[in-house]
Amino acid sequence: MLELLAKPVTQKKNEILAKKCREFISRAHRPPQLTVVLVGEDPASVIYTRKKGEMAVSLGFEHKTLCFPATAAPEEVKSKIQSLNEDPLVDGILIQRPLPKSFREDEVLFWVDPSKDVDAFHPIHMGRLSLGLPCFVPCTPAGIMELLKHYQIPIAGKTACIVGRSSIVGRPMAALMLAANATVIHCHSHTPDLRAMTRQADLLIVAAGKRGLIDGSFIKKDAVVVDVGIHRTPESKLAGDVLYPEAAKIASAMTPVPGGVGPMTIALLMENTLSAAFGQLDHS
Ligand code: NAD
Repeated sequence: MLELLAKPVTQKKNEILAKKCREFISRAHRPPQLTVVLVGEDPASVIYTRKKGEMAVSLGFEHKTLCFPATAAPEEVKSKIQSLNEDPLVDGILIQRPLPKSFREDEVLFWVDPSKDVDAFHPIHMGRLSLGLPCFVPCTPAGIMELLKHYQIPIAGKTACIVGRSSIVGRPMAALMLAANATVIHCHSHTPDLRAMTRQADLLIVAAGKRGLIDGSFIKKDAVVVDVGIHRTPESKLAGDVLYPEAAKIASAMTPVPGGVGPMTIALLMENTLSAAFGQLDHS
């Protein structure tokens, strides 16, 4: 079985991004700037935010994290984001999820200006993506597409099954698979017989957020499996939505957790930030 490791892809990609970053600096006389907005102290979010910041700095970007307490009023955070939207020195803005329950996701989606929305969650991006028009693409599905491309996994004409319909992974993933000419089966928590669906897939992409949901019996022989899930085990290890040892006996290729989808997501975030920065420069 082929392990779809992110490292060879991200190594090459990061070299290109660092070079483009130097080009940006020589044109703009400042580094590209990414601001992460963190509300509360969810432990996983604190780690993800730190990792994003470290990667940004290692590529030559400027990075800031704006921290709000979990008790912050949504209006206060919205007002700060509006000032970031208007700040010409800020290129990319990312609101770290999950947000406290007092925040309404259907409102927050509209807060970041689409030209700085490097997570690509704004409905404008989602709409353009659904229509196959150029746009920022949410980082995790975009990273998966790059990973599959690097390992020359065929998509056109294949049956792709996506488990999960979140707006950050499942839905954009389905749109990208459709755009790449796969036949798409889209499953979610109301799918009555999940196994019957996943077993049809040449390409199985699992983003359910349920540790170990997919065992070997869900996988068609020689399918390619992409595991988006990230979970911390009681032994403090990372694990995915797919039971790796079982799945590895049946799949022809598979992403490990960690080392598969996660690093690709961060790399694509950096790429979106750089695109946003060049976009600002070209429109100034
Ligand atoms: P989410 O909770 O927003 O959505 C989960 C989706 O899975 C829902 O649409 C739900 O209908 C579906 N689902 C849940 N249980 C199911 C079941 N038994 N059968 C079929 N469908 C089911 O989650 P999300 O934000 O899309 O994240 C999913 C997982 O991916 C989480 O573990 C998250 O931590 C991880 N994640 C990883 C990365 C990365 O970079 N590797 C990025 C984003 C999310």
